[in-house]
Amino acid sequence: MHCPFCAHPDTKVIDSRLVADGEQIRRRRECIQCGERFTTFETAELVMPRVIKQDGTREPFNEDKLRSGIQRALEKRPVSVEAIEAAITHIKQKLRATGEREVQSRNVGEWVMTELRQLDQVAYVRFASVYRSFKDLDEFRAEIEKISTPAEDAS
Ligand SMILES: [Zn+2]
Repeated sequence: MHCPFCAHPDTKVIDSRLVADGEQIRRRRECIQCGERFTTFETAELVMPRVIKQDGTREPFNEDKLRSGIQRALEKRPVSVEAIEAAITHIKQKLRATGEREVQSRNVGEWVMTELRQLDQVAYVRFASVYRSFKDLDEFRAEIEKISTPAEDAS
């Protein structure tokens, strides 16, 4: 690619490494003419399925929206940014793996819950209570019981 500083048509790669759980390649480049260095990120461009909302309308998959939902659940919880990004990556992988052009938002919600359950149980309960809008206390209690015995529910 052209050097963004002097527009020289040739740059050399001086370092490349996998980032974002292997979803991205970060390359450090150096212009062979002016010697300036810069970074590029390479990701595969894959089409994400559209999301079918509860009311039947469709919208494009929105990664920022997914991230902010997860971050809200994890507010003030001891979970690293890396762990959150890895969870988002897993959810995107599942979305692509469906091979469908459209996916129910409910499925995405379930995948978020699966990830949160492994990251942080408080966040999981927060998200689940909002997402599932438990109809009564018994339903909520049943969910709490489920998370206190994770080994028996590996599905
Ligand atoms: Zn240059």
